[in-house]
Formats: sequence, structure tokens, C-alpha cells
Amino acid sequence: MNKQEQVQQMTTYMANFVSHIAKVLPDDIIKKLDELGAQEDAPLSKVIYETMKRNQKLAKELNRPSCQDTGVLQFWVKCGVDFPLIGEVEGLLKEAVVKSTFEAPLRHNSVETFDEFNTGLNVGKGTPTVWWDIIPNSDKCEIYAYMAGGGCTLPGKAMVLMPGAGYEGVTKFVMDVMTSYGINACPPLLVGVGVATSVETAALLSKKALMRPLGSHNENERAAYMEKLLEDGINSIGLGPQGMGGKYSVMGVHIENTARHPSAIGVAVNVGCWSHRRGHIIFDKDLNYTIDTHSGVTL
Ligand code: SF4
Repeated sequence: MNKQEQVQQMTTYMANFVSHIAKVLPDDIIKKLDELGAQEDAPLSKVIYETMKRNQKLAKELNRPSCQDTGVLQFWVKCGVDFPLIGEVEGLLKEAVVKSTFEAPLRHNSVETFDEFNTGLNVGKGTPTVWWDIIPNSDKCEIYAYMAGGGCTLPGKAMVLMPGAGYEGVTKFVMDVMTSYGINACPPLLVGVGVATSVETAALLSKKALMRPLGSHNENERAAYMEKLLEDGINSIGLGPQGMGGKYSVMGVHIENTARHPSAIGVAVNVGCWSHRRGHIIFDKDLNYTIDTHSGVTL
């Protein structure tokens, strides 16, 4: 394949991948929803979990998105410096989103700010969002694709705490967000928490935390313990599925952190809903791909 053919091939793969994740939830989310549904006793909670399951089945059978809000597309690209299409990736992701918008189809979710004009293509100024990590000595390209729906984006919040607020301050911040806005995001939720220095560093980490597989833990054992404490605390609010009450409010809590300035604690929360549409695909230099979030997919 010449370069132009390679670009076309990767565009098609990414368009098909986006269309697929709009319709089929990741394996770990499906498993977790089954687990939580089995542990709820209240009849209403059980009915909601059964409805979610039926929704997933019908989305697959009818080849339609599993939620009407297919979100704004966000990509986190971890690209090796030697990946042959490194210069083309950002452009082809945009093309892939347009292609998927017509093929899937996806809801039109890109409104030009200040002009209040919906492009109808799911691309606009700065959308889809693309975050880059450049990886030395690598010829692979890893892409996390995420559909940021309106409801699950609403609880997002970031601020910088006084240093004296400590980890208790981080906990209070997270719990305040969850008790005031958690219900908007179609629980059970995946809660991403970023802890760093400034708002933007914490905010980006809180989004990246949502890309981690369920059941994974922060590598620092104290942070992992805090994930567990927050999970128990948010569950005890009793949001239940779709906020209708129940034993479980969350599928998990993931904390991502960096070292920080001693005089500031940047903290942020980002939330994924029960329909947590994220996918992870890895391309080698010849565009062979591996997908580890969804089993049995051929693009
Ligand atoms: S929060 Fe999630 S499940 Fe609820 S409407 Fe938005 S995208 Fe759909």
C-alpha cells in the first residue's frame, strides 16, 4: 500500500471502530452491569438493569447506537515517533468521525460555540478532541476513543484546593460533586478523579482515569485504598441504576495522579455513565490492529 492507501485504510478502520463502540459496550462494562444487577434486590433496580441489557441486545440486533446521545468524540492518542502515519493521524480521525456520523449513524453533537451553529458532521473547531502522548522508540499507535455524552459530561468539575485541605478536602470535593450532580449522569457511574497541581493537569488525569479497565487500581497503594473508600462512600449515597435508588451508585472509582506543588492540590472529577462507550485499539506499523476492550471485532 502507498501512503494514501494506508491513510484510507486507517480512516476506514477508525470509522468502523467508532461506529462499533457506539453500539456495543466494552466487555468489562457489560460484565460489571451484570454483576451489579444481580446484587440489587429492589424490583425497580432489577427492572432497570434488565432494560439496560435488553437495550444492549436490541442495539446489536438493529445495528443502532445503544444511547441516542452518541456524544462528542474524544481521542487519546499514544503514538510512537516511528509510526508511519504519525503526521496523518489527527486529520484521519476527523475524517473517520464524519464517515461514522453518516454510517453509524451518530447524533450531530458539534455546535460551533458563539455561532450556535450545528455543523451536522460531528466535527468543528477543536472537535473531535485529540490529546497526544508521543512515545519514543516505538512504531505503534495506541488510540483510546471515547464518546462524551452530555449527561455524563455534566458533573465534570475541577478546582485547586488550599494545601491544608489535604486528602479530606479531595474526598469532600468528590462527594460534593457526586451528591449534587451524580444523578444527572445515568448511574451506575465510573468516577474518574485527577489529583495534581493545577486545574488542567487534574482535569486531564480525571478523563484519562476513565480509560482504565474496570477492576484496575492506582499503582500507589494509598491511592488505591482511597479509590476503595470513595467507591464505598459514593455507593452509600444510594443512587442506584438511573438514580432510582439502589445499593450501588458506581461501577468503580479510578484515581490518576502526578506529583504536585506543595502549596496546591489540584483536583478534578470526570464521570462515565452506565453506557460507558470507550474503546482501545492498537495499530502496528503495518496497520494490523488489536482491540482489547471489545472481543470478537473485525473492522
Ligand atoms: S448519560 Fe450516558 S446513558 Fe445517559 S443519556 Fe447521556 S450518554 Fe446516554
